Amino acid sequence: MLNIRNFNLGPLQTNAYLLTGADPAKGIIIDPGMNPAPLVRAIQDMEIEAILLTHAHFDHIGGVDEIRKLKNCPVYLHAQESDWLTNPKLNGSLLWPSVSPPITTDPAEFDLDEGQKLELIGQTFRVFHTPGHSPGSVSLLCENDLFSGDVLFRLSVGRTDLPGGRERDLLDSIKGKLFKLGDDVTVYPGHGPRTSIGFERSNNPYVS
Ligand SMILES: [Zn+2]
Ligand SMILES: [Zn+2]
Repeated sequence: MLNIRNFNLGPLQTNAYLLTGADPAKGIIIDPGMNPAPLVRAIQDMEIEAILLTHAHFDHIGGVDEIRKLKNCPVYLHAQESDWLTNPKLNGSLLWPSVSPPITTDPAEFDLDEGQKLELIGQTFRVFHTPGHSPGSVSLLCENDLFSGDVLFRLSVGRTDLPGGRERDLLDSIKGKLFKLGDDVTVYPGHGPRTSIGFERSNNPYVS
């Protein structure tokens, strides 16, 4: 059983997720964004096994450095964005100086890739490579919970006008991979409220 806590972080209201399994003292974090103080407080007495990044846009990585130093935990990211953590131009943090300072952190320790199965916090996470919003975007499935980053939102989809974005890839990712999952899979996106695969398959106006 996966326990999911959501933290809305930074100026773009990015969803960070703190996940625990049977042992509440062990967790993993998906997408720790900017201004992570509430998340840092929540994990004070916890062991963090990993930080998983759905992709390396600046609004999803602003808290990586602080948490990784505090908890000495490895970072996982798709290889197609392996140089984005060290490069503020690639991760977009140089593009909007009014929104974000330049963000850099050390490269990820491990790659995420299509079909991979990660055993963390006593749970299995299946990795889908879902490019389109960014070339290395991934979606992570644990039982019936899907963490979709900026690929699929409630009644919306990720923008494709940023470097490395491609609309056709995004629609292929959603239709060819995410919409193949069951109706009852709950979707936890990188921004906004959660939804389900069934609801989006029937109602999402950007995917037909
Ligand atoms: Zn993004
Ligand atoms: Zn985002």
